[in-house]
Amino acid sequence: MHRSRRTKILATLGPASTSEAMIRQLHVAGADVFRINMSHTDHETLNSLVKTIRTVEKNVGRPIGILADLQGPKLRLGVFAEDSIKINVGDKITLDLKDTPGTRSRVPVPHPEVLEALEKDDRILVDDGKVVLKVLESSALQAIAEVVSGETLSSRKGISLPDTELATSSMTEKDYRDLDAALDADVDWIAISFVQRPADVAEVRKIAKGRAAVLAKIEKPQALNGLDDIIDLADAVMVARGDLGVEMPIEKVPGIQKRITRACRRAGKPVVVATQMLESMINAPFPTRAEVSDVGTAVFEGADAIMLSAESAVGKYPVEAVEMMDKIAQQIEIDSNYADIIAAQRGEPNPTGADAIALAARQIAETLNLAAIVCYTGSGTTGLRAARERPQLPVIALSPVLRTARKLALVWGLHCVVTKDASDLDDMVDRACGIASSENFAKPGDRVIITAGVPLGTPGATNMLRIAFISGDGKSGV
Ligand code: PGA
Ligand code: MN
Repeated sequence: MHRSRRTKILATLGPASTSEAMIRQLHVAGADVFRINMSHTDHETLNSLVKTIRTVEKNVGRPIGILADLQGPKLRLGVFAEDSIKINVGDKITLDLKDTPGTRSRVPVPHPEVLEALEKDDRILVDDGKVVLKVLESSALQAIAEVVSGETLSSRKGISLPDTELATSSMTEKDYRDLDAALDADVDWIAISFVQRPADVAEVRKIAKGRAAVLAKIEKPQALNGLDDIIDLADAVMVARGDLGVEMPIEKVPGIQKRITRACRRAGKPVVVATQMLESMINAPFPTRAEVSDVGTAVFEGADAIMLSAESAVGKYPVEAVEMMDKIAQQIEIDSNYADIIAAQRGEPNPTGADAIALAARQIAETLNLAAIVCYTGSGTTGLRAARERPQLPVIALSPVLRTARKLALVWGLHCVVTKDASDLDDMVDRACGIASSENFAKPGDRVIITAGVPLGTPGATNMLRIAFISGDGKSGV
C-alpha cells in the first residue's frame, strides 16, 4: 500500500480519536503522523495512545510517526463545572486562583503571575481570541472582567494577554516532566511550544539526545527574529497559526506562513502548517471554500505536512476531515500549475556529496522518466536531502532503523520502508528493486534510480547513483 500524495497529514488525537479502530481508520484515511497534545493528555493516556498507535502500525505494516506536543508556557483557564458555559457580551466575570470548578460568573485562572500582572483595561483573549474579556478592576488575587465578545467558555482553553507584560521561559516544570514521559514512551518527535530563541531548541535537543527529533513551533513574534538559527537547530518547524494569529496582527499570518515555509524548504527542514485548516469540520461534514483554499495554499507552497487539530481530536467528523485533506492535497498535486510552483522555490544544493547526488538523482529520474528514486538512508539525512529536491516522481526511503522511518513519515514525498542494510552491491540493487515493485511503485520493465553510500552502512557517505531495471520476477536489477 502506498499513498497517492506527497504532502503528509498530521492528525491530532483526542477524545474523538482514542480507540484503536478510530486510529486505524484515520491512518487508512490518510494520517501519516499522529500528534498527542500534552496540554490535554496525562502520562497514562500518552502511554496507552503510543501503544495503540504501535499496534495499528504493526497491523497495517507501515511506519507511523508520533509527535508529542509540549504545552509550553501557555496560559489556560482552569476547569468548569460543565462542558461548555454560555456567556453574553457585557457579562461581568470574576477571575481568581481558587481551584473549585468555574461557573458563568466565576472563572478559575490557575496562574498567580497573571492575576498579579493584570491591570485595568488589559485584554484577555480566550481560545485563540474567540472570546475577549476586558479587565475592569484587579487585585493580586482576583480580577473582574467584562465580556467584550464571544459566546462560550470551556475547561482549559488557552488565554493570551497582548497588553500584559509577563516573564516566561519556553519550558515549564510540566514540560520537563512531559518531555521525560514522551521520551520514555519512545515517541518520534517532540514539539516545543512558544519557542522564542534558538537556545530554547538547543535545550530540548540536549535532553532528547537523539532519542526523538525536535520540532520548533513558531507562534511568537520573538521567534521570527532568530528564525534561521531556530530552523538550523531544529529538526522541523511548525507554523502554529493559532497562537501566531493571537500574538501577531492576524493579517500578517499568511505572509509569515510563506516566509517560514520557504525558509524551511531552503534549509531542507520539514515544515508543518497547522491550525484551523478545516476548522468548520469540527461540527460539519463539509468544509468551507476558504478552508479548502487554505489547505490548497499550503500544498502549493510545498509544505511537508498539513495538520488537523480539534477537527480530529474532538470533532464530530475526524475521519471525514482526514479524507478531505487527503482529497485536496491529491488534487492540488496533480494541478497543472503545481510542478512549476514547487520548482520555483527549490533551493540550490549545498556543496556536499549528499546534495549533489540528490540533485543528480532527481534530474536523471525526471529526464529518463524513471518509476522512482530509491534512497538508502540510515539517520534520515539522505532522505531529507532527496525530499528537499521535491522530485516529480516517488521517493522511497529505505532504512534499517525503524526510528528513522517513523521520523521521516512527516517528510514531503518520502515513502519509508524498513529493511536491513544490504550485504553487497548486488543485494542493494535487488533489495531496492524488490521493494519498489512490492510497494507498487514499479513493475517489470520499469527502471528506478538508487542512491546509497558505499561502503554500505557508513553514515553520511552517500556517494553512489545506480540506474536499475526491474526484471521479470519483479525483483533483481540489471
Ligand atoms: P496549539 O499549537 O494547538 O498547541 O496551541 C498550534 C497553534 O498555536 O497553532
Ligand atoms: Mn499554540
